[in-house]
Amino acid sequence: MKYISEFRQQDLAQQLSKAIAQTVDRGRHYRLMEFCGGHTHAIFRYGVQDLMPGNVEFIHGPGCPVCVLPTGRIDNAIQLAERPDVILCTYADLMRVPATGGNSLLKAKADGSDIRMVYSTQDVLKIARENPEKQVVFFAIGFETTTPPTAVAVKQAQAEGLTNFSVFCNHVLTPAAMQAILDAPQPVAIDAFLGPSHVSTVIGSQPYETFAERYAKPIVIAGFEPLDVMQSALMLIRQLNEGRHEVENEYSRAVTREGNLKAQALVREVFELRPQFEWRGLGLIPNSALKLKAGYADFDAEQRFNMPAIQASDVKGCECPAILRGAKKPQDCKLLGTVCTPENPMGSCMVSSEGACAAYWSYGRVRG
Ligand code: SF4
Repeated sequence: MKYISEFRQQDLAQQLSKAIAQTVDRGRHYRLMEFCGGHTHAIFRYGVQDLMPGNVEFIHGPGCPVCVLPTGRIDNAIQLAERPDVILCTYADLMRVPATGGNSLLKAKADGSDIRMVYSTQDVLKIARENPEKQVVFFAIGFETTTPPTAVAVKQAQAEGLTNFSVFCNHVLTPAAMQAILDAPQPVAIDAFLGPSHVSTVIGSQPYETFAERYAKPIVIAGFEPLDVMQSALMLIRQLNEGRHEVENEYSRAVTREGNLKAQALVREVFELRPQFEWRGLGLIPNSALKLKAGYADFDAEQRFNMPAIQASDVKGCECPAILRGAKKPQDCKLLGTVCTPENPMGSCMVSSEGACAAYWSYGRVRG
């Protein structure tokens, strides 16, 4: 297949649906965690759940970088943006995430803070070059997919001597989150994983092998199109039926076992592991996030502005933390579609284009 439309063909989806129905063991329940929000949105946008037998359940995972960022880090960014000498730049998804006291980056912008939405790290460098009298801070978030462009920007800033540019780094790591889910004191019942797709183009499929082996969980690296998700579900069901627990790669058109070695080397050159990092829903996870290495410390906004660690709570009644662990689903939240809507989000899962609550709202599953 060559074009994206081919991964959305109805007749092929129906063939896969039939194959899955013929493959499942009617006597067992299959709990498949789709790690990424991109998978969740594909499932709901294209009605994939409706094409599955009733005993195949999708459990939504934590693979939405906006969703897992704790409220305290948004508070940090707002404090920074309120400084008159700072221009804060970030991707649009973060703008409406609720911060403490009903605040958000969008509200702070409306109140006069200079906060700018950007499409790439190159936009941030351009703003820094054009505003030498200002401190330009990139509020960087994302899994392994978005880390290499941040590394490029830091190296470019260093090469250019762009001293008014810095990064508020919130890049996090998917294998650490998978480990946290599997090691949770009260683990959610999960039989197998639809593994990250875009992340795996960078890190490859190899890092998941340890989980498949140690926890006896089948993992299939799955693309984000509906046929990818269905084919991957079929591969997982076959593994479970046969008692296998391997890493298989459905997204072979983009992912290799080794991943993008050049991007990995670049990230290793600029970043190092934080001893621990707080995730919404998963708590403090060791070695789960990155910070700038000593050689690039001049570009570390946390050091430059002496940013404090802020402990903050989620909105009362918001079930985002449990949803991100796979312990609950959006319809378990009493605020869904009543108090909490995309226009008036109470939690990050309703804001992000990868959030599970946004998927339920956007594709009409709010009433379950
Ligand atoms: S519907 Fe809103 S309040 Fe409820 S879990 Fe989702 S984001 Fe939180």
